[in-house]
Formats: sequence, C-alpha cells, structure tokens
Amino acid sequence: MTTALAPRTPLTAADRCDRCGAQAYLRVELARGGELLFCAHHAREHGDKLREIAISVHDETDKLSDTPATASEDEH
Ligand SMILES: [Zn+2]
Repeated sequence: MTTALAPRTPLTAADRCDRCGAQAYLRVELARGGELLFCAHHAREHGDKLREIAISVHDETDKLSDTPATASEDEH
C-alpha cells in the first residue's frame, strides 16, 4: 500500500494572494520548502515560472469559470 500525501485542504476566502491580497485560487508548494498563494490573475501571470520551482501546484482557478464575468444588461 502506498502512503499517499494527505489530501490538500481546499483554498478558502481566508487564503490571500501573496502579491495583491485578493482571494487565492492557486497554492504552490516550493521544492525548497514553504508555499505561496496566488489569485487567478497572478497565477496566470507567473504560472510557467511557478511550475518550474514547485513540487506541487494546487489549482482552483477553474472554480472561477462558474462565475459570470459580466452581469447581463437589460438592453430594452
Ligand atoms: Zn494577486
């Protein structure tokens, strides 16, 4: 039986982007220890770089696709 890593705790509204303080949707575990949190914007901006230095990336940015980007307007 393989000893699996403990299930990741889902990100919550209390998790904040290290760059701008917005709600975090990406948690990056660094190979040298420690972790970083990023909002969807910064996750996208630093995504390639992060995957180079990370041993584990917990990505919840797909949660955002459920949210309508713009409110529908009444064009009547
Ligand atoms: Zn950010």
